Amino acid sequence: MWIDTHCHFDVSDFDADRVDVAKHAKSAGVEAIVVVAYLAQHWQHLLAVCASINEPKLLPVLGLHPCYIAEHQHEHLLQLEQYLQRQACIAIGEIGLDTYVADIKGQELYQKQQDFFSAQLQLAKQYQKPVILHVRKAHADVFKILRQQRFDGGGIVHAFSGGVEEAKMYAKLGFKLGIGGSVTYEQAKRLHNVIDAMPIESLVIETDAPDMIPQPYRNPNAHFTRNSPAYLPCIAQALANSKQLTLAQLAPILWQNSCQALHLSLQSNGFN
Ligand SMILES: [Zn+2]
Repeated sequence: MWIDTHCHFDVSDFDADRVDVAKHAKSAGVEAIVVVAYLAQHWQHLLAVCASINEPKLLPVLGLHPCYIAEHQHEHLLQLEQYLQRQACIAIGEIGLDTYVADIKGQELYQKQQDFFSAQLQLAKQYQKPVILHVRKAHADVFKILRQQRFDGGGIVHAFSGGVEEAKMYAKLGFKLGIGGSVTYEQAKRLHNVIDAMPIESLVIETDAPDMIPQPYRNPNAHFTRNSPAYLPCIAQALANSKQLTLAQLAPILWQNSCQALHLSLQSNGFN
């Protein structure tokens, strides 16, 4: 009944027990996991991981993450286009701008971030794919580039970190907001304000596993050293509480939102 719209299920944290984690996720009601790329050198492995597991359905997203901007090469954009020609991915991501990390916000690298973001938006337009955005402390520039490119393919702003005005602007531009583990932290006031202000139709959920461990799993005495797509229902529950909905009410709405944002026509096995 749930779709994890952002997970790094290909990374080595899951190498030892990926099949078991997938089973746990499936029995927790996770029917699809969007597996999002960050570096070109890992794309092939990501696709192999997605092809290796049937349940939950693993949906590959390829792209060049702004935080790894120093490592991206022009030829990676050409490779991305080849994958798009082969219909290898459902969306492009994660792409965007980040000025939160100090060593990538210097003039030269920030310009490179903008160039790679624009180039990937152009590919998304050309191949009619939605995008998964990573944006930290750079919303104004992202809005500027989305408008310059006249990008209207939509997608998801993952781990949304902006305020209410920015949330409304993304919604206007056709994006859903990705709500993750932070919704389980009472002190995340800004995010809770956004969730209160936005209609549920604008939201989707994600784990960002293995990062962003939800509060109930952060017990320092327990052996939870990574986040897992199997913890997605805990994020759903926190969102349901905030929106005063039951899980049974929330599930079909989020399913619909996710399918709309990612241009999917997936059938759920049921909303119980
Ligand atoms: Zn991510």
